[in-house]
Formats: sequence, structure tokens, C-alpha cells
Amino acid sequence: MIFLIKYAEIAIKGKNRKYFEDALVRQIRHNLRHLECEFDIKKTQGRIYVNVSDDVTEEEVTERLTKVFGIVGICPVEMFEDEGEKELGRQVVDYIGRTYPDRHFTFKVSARRARKNYPLNSMEINAFLGGELLEAYPEMKVDVHDPEVEIFVEIREQICVYSRQIPGPGGMPVGTSGKAMLLLSGGIDSPVAGYMCAKRGCKIDAVYFHAPPYTSERAKRKVIDLAAQVSQYTGPIYLHVVNFTDIQMEIYKTCPHDQLTIIMRRYMMKIAEHFAYETESMGLVTGESIGQVASQTMQSLMCTNEVCTMPVYRPLIGLDKTEIIDRAKAIGTFETSILPYEDCCTIFVAKHPVTKPTLKSIKKSEEKLKGRIEELYQTALDTTEVLIVSPNGVRTPKAPEKDSE
Ligand code: ATP
Ligand code: MG
Repeated sequence: MIFLIKYAEIAIKGKNRKYFEDALVRQIRHNLRHLECEFDIKKTQGRIYVNVSDDVTEEEVTERLTKVFGIVGICPVEMFEDEGEKELGRQVVDYIGRTYPDRHFTFKVSARRARKNYPLNSMEINAFLGGELLEAYPEMKVDVHDPEVEIFVEIREQICVYSRQIPGPGGMPVGTSGKAMLLLSGGIDSPVAGYMCAKRGCKIDAVYFHAPPYTSERAKRKVIDLAAQVSQYTGPIYLHVVNFTDIQMEIYKTCPHDQLTIIMRRYMMKIAEHFAYETESMGLVTGESIGQVASQTMQSLMCTNEVCTMPVYRPLIGLDKTEIIDRAKAIGTFETSILPYEDCCTIFVAKHPVTKPTLKSIKKSEEKLKGRIEELYQTALDTTEVLIVSPNGVRTPKAPEKDSE
């Protein structure tokens, strides 16, 4: 089986082109490597072809390729040697016969002659092949303006024929932008936020704030499962699991309860940023969206944001919950996200959280934490566990590499 990989040309002008294409090839290789098959990726004349042995089905391959950012379309193609136009006609008729058992559709042939020494020009090839097809299958009808099936014929060293295109996810190959640190909770939003940044080419690391015994091992497992699902698109994710219990307890004991979530969130951002700097990330990513809950009003976001020096990316900022849910379903994280395990924020949440906090009042409350919080903060950093999560499982950085990036 051979697939022609289509990618958007727009982001890849000039010198960036090779960089972009190499990254795309790398990500394709990465996503196909655990299929039980042989495969080969060729980059020729500004095109990428993936040749896969018949040990797997077309669906198994496209399922992997639709998770590679940068791909706009996946076209199953047939390659023929140039044995003259008669033979080409026979092969195209044969191809259409095999590909479409029901041929009651309108079509057009779009030929492209990349090799100028071919005896017919593009228009002549279109006319010739159109005629051959109508003769073989009288049920087909020509419609050059809005055909149901467009049959592409590209004359290169070999002749490449295709007519189907499976949509890819678009975006840019992971690794062509920098790396970002995702605050990944067990909810619906943050996995989608991570997906969206990765779609723009960011490599993703993650941090999860765990509060045992208030949050269970199952809650942690759920976050690992979500990271594994997101990693189908992003490649392995270094997940930092921070034990947040003591910091939360201290805030709970010391600060006004209506400010708990904001103050907690500020500590989360600080810790996430610490690991982001340590691992050379260039920004933080959260699943926040304006006005979704009390901690996501503009006033609250301003207070949360104030502790960060890095950019904080909030790719869901303008989406409604229903739109986020649709995306979570489309990327496959929704079912895991709605499993009913507790989250560290819900446990310590106040009945009536402030919706319009001021920085001044938040900072005043935080003053009271001084003297004790510094040690707890340091302990949280020191005891953080790092897991490398990929679709094939979880390992620790010390374990031997089974799944290199
Ligand atoms: P989500 O569905 O992503 O949990 P949410 O609507 O529940 O979002 P909040 O709980 O207010 O929203 O969290 C806002 C953002 O803060 C999350 O999207 C996530 O990026 C981050 N966050 C919240 N809780 C945690 C946690 N326990 N660990 C890591 N990040 C968290
Ligand atoms: Mg949440």
C-alpha cells in the first residue's frame, strides 16, 4: 500500500521547507513504528510517500496517520510504470473498477505532467482517460465543475493515480515549535488544550497536582490515561506528578476559604513554571476559558497569571463548554475525562468562591503563609515524580528507553 501525504504549503516557504518536511517524516515514522508491518517513507520532488507492507489494513495505517499534525490529507495511491498510454488507460480503468464497486457518480480526470517528455500533455491525458473510463463504465458521467470523484493522474518517473483523500488533522509537525508545559488535570478541558498547542507544533510536557489521600491513585491513573491518549498525537509526554497536599492544607488552614482556589492556582502556576524552566519549556498551557467557573473570570485569571513570568497559553479561552466537549470527543479523551474521580481542586473548594478577587486582597492573604509555605513548596518540588507516558505505557526516566522520541 502506498499513501501520498499532503501537507499545507503555506507554513513552509523557503528555508523552512526542509525543516518542516523532515519533522513531518520523523513524526510519521514515530506514529507508524508500533504497527506490525514494514514501512518506508520517501521524500521526493516535494512529496512524501509512505509505503506500507500488506500485513496491516489501510484503516490501521490511516488511523495512525490522522494523528500526525502537519498532514492535511492522506491519499491511498497506485503507482504504475510508464508502459505507454494504452496500458495507462487499462490500468486506470482497472483501478476505478477495483476502488468503486458502484460507479454511479460524476467524475473528472485531473492529470499533471511533471515529466515534460511524456507524449501527451495534461489536457490530452484528461480527454483520453475520460474517454476510456466512459467506454468501460457507461454509468459514470463527466462533470468538470463539481465532480463527485476527481481522479488525479501524475506523470512522474512513475505514474501515480489516486482519487480518495482522507482528511488529516492539519497543523504543524510536533517539534517544529518549542516545548510547552501543560497543566493537566483529570478534567475535560486541559487534554484538549494540550492537543491544540501540539497541533501548532509544540512538544508537550505536563504537570499534574495530586493530593493524596484526598485524591486517590485512581484519579492519578486517570490523568496518566489522559496523557497517554494525548501522546498519540504529541509523542511521549514527561508527566510531572506533584504532591500538592501539604501546600493545599496550609492554604486551607491559613487563608480565607473564598480565596482558596485562586491562591492554590497561583501555587500551581509557580510550580509548573519551575519545571517549565528546568526542562526548557517556553510557556505554560492551561484549559481555562473566560467565565467558565469562578476561578476563570477575567479578575481571577489576572490574579492567577500574575505569578508567571512565562507566557501562559490558553487555547480554549474563547470556546464554550459544549465546543470543548465536542473536541474532547473528537480527539478521544472525553470518555476518560468524565470518569468520576475526585480532583484536588474540588476537595478544597469553597461553597462561595470569590468571582472578582483583587490582587491586593490575594497578596494580603498570602502574606500569612510566609514562614511555612517556603519549605512545603521546596518539598513539593523535591518529591515530584516524573513519568514518561506514551501510548504504549509508562516508564520512568531511569528505565531503559523502549520508545525514543
Ligand atoms: P479541566 O477540565 O481541564 O480540569 P476545569 O474546567 O475543571 O478544567 P479548573 O479545575 O478550574 O477547570 O482548572 C483550570 C485549569 O487549571 C485546568 O484546565 C488545568 O489546566 C489546570 N488544573 C486544574 N487542576 C489541576 C490539577 N490538579 N493538576 C494540573 N492542572 C490543573
Ligand atoms: Mg478541573
